[in-house]
Amino acid sequence: MSIVNTHYGDLKDSYLFADIAKRIRAYQEEHPGERILRLGIGDVTKPLVPSVIRALHEAAEDQSKKETFHGYMPECGDPALRHVIAERYRKRGVLLDDSEVFVSSGASDELGDILDLFDRSLPAVLLQPVYPAYADANVMAGRTIITIDADEENGFLPEPPSEIMTALIYICSPNNPTGAAYDREGLQKWVDYANEGGSILLFDAAYEAFVAEPDIPRSVFELPGARTCAIEICSLSKTAGFTGTRLGYTVIPEDLVRDDLSLNAMWVRNRTTKTNGVSYILQKAGLAVFSEEGEQETAALLEDYRKNAEIFMRALDEAGIWYTGGTNSPYIWVKCPHGLGSWEYFDLLLNNAQIVGTPGEGFGKCGEGFFRFSMFGSRGDIEEAGRRIAEMK
Ligand code: PLP
Repeated sequence: MSIVNTHYGDLKDSYLFADIAKRIRAYQEEHPGERILRLGIGDVTKPLVPSVIRALHEAAEDQSKKETFHGYMPECGDPALRHVIAERYRKRGVLLDDSEVFVSSGASDELGDILDLFDRSLPAVLLQPVYPAYADANVMAGRTIITIDADEENGFLPEPPSEIMTALIYICSPNNPTGAAYDREGLQKWVDYANEGGSILLFDAAYEAFVAEPDIPRSVFELPGARTCAIEICSLSKTAGFTGTRLGYTVIPEDLVRDDLSLNAMWVRNRTTKTNGVSYILQKAGLAVFSEEGEQETAALLEDYRKNAEIFMRALDEAGIWYTGGTNSPYIWVKCPHGLGSWEYFDLLLNNAQIVGTPGEGFGKCGEGFFRFSMFGSRGDIEEAGRRIAEMK
């Protein structure tokens, strides 16, 4: 008999960011004072917008007075916030009931917690290269993991396999790390595939706000058939700079039923048992994000990151480097030039151009020979990095 969940022993140690930090430290010790351009970490760099800051202050004030004080919030979210989120979908033509939206503390929490709903014998399908948390959460649960390779040939947007199976299928579009985004036709194939086998699509929409092209869906629920197979997990982290503030939402349609059980009802039961809701203060900030003023301010914030991507893509074009992403994503995934491996390219960029990015193999074997640049940095760094890469060609 085991006392603990021994599947934790199956987790592979990840040294990716520790290795990156070690190499940067060594370089800096040898070259003190040199400016390093950091295009590695996927965290945002711009502060929260003024309307959100105002809401946070007001909410803190509310908590200081008997008349406006809030205790426990409803476990599935403040009805007002659930309503504005559902309304945002409805404005884009996706008809959702408010009860299908659950307020969360962010996508990471949900990606882990949602696994409570599924039997451990249900395999997980991951498209590689992959956001590492998908794999680790399923290893912890002792679930079998089936991988499907994304590569240059399929534009890092693989199609469903020919063999029908029943599984928990993770789709992240626009993707981290590749920045590639499914168009309607491509995503529809996954929706149809999931419905055919009774699978569940776990659609990670953390980067939906970066979608710029009309044929790229921002939500899986824009597609016919998604209501009977998909769960969408979204976050304000990248949409509104909430990485350190923490707020997100999850959509589970009423039509999603397996083994005669409604997954929406199961999640209500899960949240009411395992959480006491998200803080009043943060939900008030969330309401500010979706106000007219908040939407305008966050759009400007995103436009700035988008412009970074444009500038960097132009430099890559000039250098003749193959890449995906950038257009609908804050990530640009490049093919390491001259057939270099990911770490070789890392060292070359650090030593010759003082640029730091993320070696693709940190996201699985399909990432070998590729490299991720993040566009969340400052405009000055992005412009300078673009210049240096174009000069390196
Ligand atoms: N999903 C993807 C694909 C991400 O890249 C990230 C964060 O980088 C998350 C989820 C986590 O988002 P959150 O900050 O809401 O936990």
